[in-house]
Amino acid sequence: MIPKTVPTWQRSHQNLPTPDWQRAQANAIRDPEVLLDYLELPQELLPAAIQAANDFPLCVPLTYLQQIEKGNPADPLLRQILPIGAERNMVPGFRNDPVGDQAALVVPGLLHKYQGRVLLMTTQACAVHCRYCFRRHYPYSETGASPGNWQAAIDYIAADESIHEVILSGGDPLSLTESHLSSLSQQLSRIPHLSRLRIHSRTPVVLPERINEAFVQWLASVSLNTVLVLHCNHPDEISEPVRNALNQLKKTGVTLLNQAVLLHGVNDDLETLTQLSEKLFQNKVMPYYLHQLDRVQGAAHFEVPDNRATELITLLRQQLPGYLVPQLVREQAAEKSKTPVVI
Ligand SMILES: *Cc1c(COP(=O)(O)O)cnc(C)c1O
Ligand code: SF4
Repeated sequence: MIPKTVPTWQRSHQNLPTPDWQRAQANAIRDPEVLLDYLELPQELLPAAIQAANDFPLCVPLTYLQQIEKGNPADPLLRQILPIGAERNMVPGFRNDPVGDQAALVVPGLLHKYQGRVLLMTTQACAVHCRYCFRRHYPYSETGASPGNWQAAIDYIAADESIHEVILSGGDPLSLTESHLSSLSQQLSRIPHLSRLRIHSRTPVVLPERINEAFVQWLASVSLNTVLVLHCNHPDEISEPVRNALNQLKKTGVTLLNQAVLLHGVNDDLETLTQLSEKLFQNKVMPYYLHQLDRVQGAAHFEVPDNRATELITLLRQQLPGYLVPQLVREQAAEKSKTPVVI
């Protein structure tokens, strides 16, 4: 017999032990010296890593670190998390707010830029710090992205019947506890003109511990039609713990999509992109977008030129069925949708 218990996310957390994922998050590596030691990388990398980490701190959970090849400075996963000197180069065209986010801010934490959809920045926390992040300079503290600061956003959504989908973004919404997530999803579920809830998250890929029973229960309980868009950039990121997490997510019945960012030295080759699509599909995740980099200051060394990007998509289309070829897009300030990249 299954005992009738209150789901863990509805209990008061006062008497609960810290969940494993929060401990894993607390134990993430934040010190460049520890990172280099752990990965047996040359100490010459340290001064630049320390300097770049002053602008945007290093943060990487151990589960992700374990997928990185030791002693290999060119490892594609390492490139995404290791602070390097090139981040401090000022490159023309690379700005602090590359996608015009702040112009689309309608109330604290809420972006209304696209027809029928709003994007709610739920928190500023992420499980990992990606060096190419377009929000690396985002003034979260001024724009009010935090739990407890959502009422104005919820009121705005409730007052505009043209909105049918709420996208939870961040930061990373999976940095929130289940009690925050469930209070948010319950409030959104009461708005009659909403039909979809979308969650954008890199957490299942970098901190798969987060996909625990309480989270899965919450996700399965959401009454809105739910889409989870993963951010996975490389097939090596789909390790065994990540596959287990994806399997748990699949059981909730939510639609699983992936968006990747095209990154020089990480995934800008045909073999890697082919493997990424194949491996995602093996785990019931459909490729959705392949994003051209947002031109954020400090990330210029990750940029792949449009002609190479379109060439890769053409080659990918010759390798794979159409449903495994992601849409190559970029985000453009003031545009009402993502813009397809075509040459
Ligand atoms: C990307 C984005 C969306 C969602 O776009 P889709 O094409 O539906 O994936 C919505 N709002 C903002 C501000 C975005 O940047
Ligand atoms: S998870 Fe997303 S929002 Fe967070 S640092 Fe990485 S790219 Fe930026």
